[in-house]
Amino acid sequence: MLIKRLKLSGFKSFVEPSDLRIEPGLTGVVGPNGCGKSNLLEAIRWVMGENSPKSMRSGGMEDVIFAGTEQRPARDFAEVVLLAEDADGEELIVTRRIERGAGSAYRVNGHDVRAKDVSLTFADAATGAHSPALVSQGKIAQVIAAKPAERRQMLEEAAGIAGLHVRRRDAESK
Ligand code: ATP
Ligand code: MG
Repeated sequence: MLIKRLKLSGFKSFVEPSDLRIEPGLTGVVGPNGCGKSNLLEAIRWVMGENSPKSMRSGGMEDVIFAGTEQRPARDFAEVVLLAEDADGEELIVTRRIERGAGSAYRVNGHDVRAKDVSLTFADAATGAHSPALVSQGKIAQVIAAKPAERRQMLEEAAGIAGLHVRRRDAESK
């Protein structure tokens, strides 16, 4: 799967609508401390279904919504759109939006879907919110210190079979 574009609005420090094109090859994000580099990676993880506020460096999930500054009022929603191309060359447009007091809603190619559908889509493509392909600050030390069971989970996600376990648990509970 290729990520081609990322659109953010009201997400953390990206208060104004931002549209970032990601060209093939290596992309570097540079800037001074606190300018929002890590927030960008978190936006990718968030739109892929991340549900742990802690791994978004937030107390609660609504904390991803722009909180306001002395000059600018807070926003009441955050939205991230990820445009990608899957292995078959099909375009995939995934949107996640959170509103204060209303929780998150997801859309894939214009249709409302469940959080689980989004997670499965990315798990099958061997990527996703917990994919070893997304390495955040401090993560390397965590991988080194991981227990064997945790490391196995990382390897399964890298191999693209994590989605199978979810489906098996689903089938077993029916
Ligand atoms: P470093 O080089 O130190 O790793 P960075 O470029 O990765 O920095 P980030 O951690 O992405 O920076 O951005 C941090 C900034 O985002 C801080 O200024 C913080 O105030 C701002 N920020 C985070 N959440 C919100 C929010 N909900 N509303 C407004 N600003 C926010
Ligand atoms: Mg950072």
